[in-house]
Amino acid sequence: MKEELKPCPFCGAGETQLIPANHWTGMQNVVLSVTVRHWCKRDDNWPQGHLDIKGNTEAEAIAAWNRRASPSAGQWIAVTERLPDHHRAVLVWRHKDEVIDRAWCDGELWHSLNGFQVKCTHWMPLPAPPLSDIKGEK
Ligand SMILES: [Zn+2]
Repeated sequence: MKEELKPCPFCGAGETQLIPANHWTGMQNVVLSVTVRHWCKRDDNWPQGHLDIKGNTEAEAIAAWNRRASPSAGQWIAVTERLPDHHRAVLVWRHKDEVIDRAWCDGELWHSLNGFQVKCTHWMPLPAPPLSDIKGEK
């Protein structure tokens, strides 16, 4: 199955091409590398620069292009900007109540882990649990 190219994180559009670098061995064509080349969409008439992301294969190049920094704990993300994966528990800021809570989003509505519907303006991933020895637990 072939992975689709995600839209550009900068312009959300623009033009993207897959450019294989082939080598003819005399017997067959061998793909040496594949480049994802993207031209960001510009509103003005300035010349466009392009981004090149290379991989050894087309699948690798696409995976490299599609890689995005994942949001890290400690950074609030506005719900208008981005939502967490559906049904994944995250920390949320309930602005009206001025409360930090745990909740999950079904893609539209937010549900606190107590089962109530909540309204929130921001979320962030839960921090990782402690790694070192947890004492006093049997
Ligand atoms: Zn772009």
